[in-house]
Amino acid sequence: AAKKNSGDHFMMYQPNMDKEAYSNLQLENDLRYAVERKEFSMVYQPLIDISDGKMVGVEALIRWNHPIRGPVSPQEFIQLSEENGLIIPLGQWILETACLQWKQWVENGYSPFTLAINISIIQFTHPNFLRDLKEIIRKTGMEPRYLELEITENIPFANNFASIILNDLKHLGVKISLDDFGTGYSSLQYLNTLSIDTLKIDRSFIKDLPFNRNNIAIVQTIMSMAQFLDLKVVAEGVETKEQLLFLEKNGCQIAQGYYFSRPLPKEEFERTFLMDSKWTGTYYIND
Ligand code: C2E
Ligand code: MG
Ligand code: MG
Ligand code: MG
Repeated sequence: AAKKNSGDHFMMYQPNMDKEAYSNLQLENDLRYAVERKEFSMVYQPLIDISDGKMVGVEALIRWNHPIRGPVSPQEFIQLSEENGLIIPLGQWILETACLQWKQWVENGYSPFTLAINISIIQFTHPNFLRDLKEIIRKTGMEPRYLELEITENIPFANNFASIILNDLKHLGVKISLDDFGTGYSSLQYLNTLSIDTLKIDRSFIKDLPFNRNNIAIVQTIMSMAQFLDLKVVAEGVETKEQLLFLEKNGCQIAQGYYFSRPLPKEEFERTFLMDSKWTGTYYIND
């Protein structure tokens, strides 16, 4: 856009042009080699039980450190990889890496906790998804009941195929969360018929709590809906004590956000939340 408005055909190279100049095409090409070049890594963000401050799980999130551009936002490159199909091998790499990590933690003596992994719709509805997932579970030694797959609310549920996969996952013992909940369209009816375990309230609704009347109403509605349907609720993007207190008062059990911790690289996560080899399982909420 900057280029168009300048009126010049020849422009001096400017650092702030990097991102645009580094076109999607180039980025897409780099994406193809990023796995073998070991440019991806996983970071881990704790999920905290509000009532006792215990860590009950982690969400694994991918990071791409591009050799020239530096860190690229997952939103950007996940979407690219969905468009060109690379999400399939990338998604497998994510599952494998995170499950293997979980297994290592358990083998090192930490009490097992839930591992949440984001799954793209493209990956989820791919005909080989279940087969590949079972293979990864077998290979890594991940215990299915500690695995929670996060899918966004807008998954094509009208699509029968998706509900069949959900049922098969349930039989495998794997849990399902609806991520970014509240931003899409779900009827009570359909939430009731799907095999879903958890709703993750989108962080846009947590943002101005407890001051925004709309968000207060939305969160309270989600809470009573979840209670009615017997679903667990996780609040995403919790950054303040006030938000946390509001959530606790309104019956939300689990919270995740910068208030507790940013997503951390493995070593830092271990140091902060698992400590040496004697994790007591309690994370004390600051102040
Ligand atoms: P998401 O699944 O909703 O993940 C939560 C996002 O919120 C993460 O951003 C996390 O860093 C951020 N976050 C957590 N707590 C806070 C907070 O208190 N305040 C704010 N402002 N942000 C917070 P991230 O890592 O940049 O990921 C963005 C999105 O990219 C994810 O949203 C997910 O949709 C996608 N993504 C990330 N990693 C993966 C992955 O491994 N696989 C797939 N398929 N998608 C991924
Ligand atoms: Mg998520
Ligand atoms: Mg997500
Ligand atoms: Mg989310």
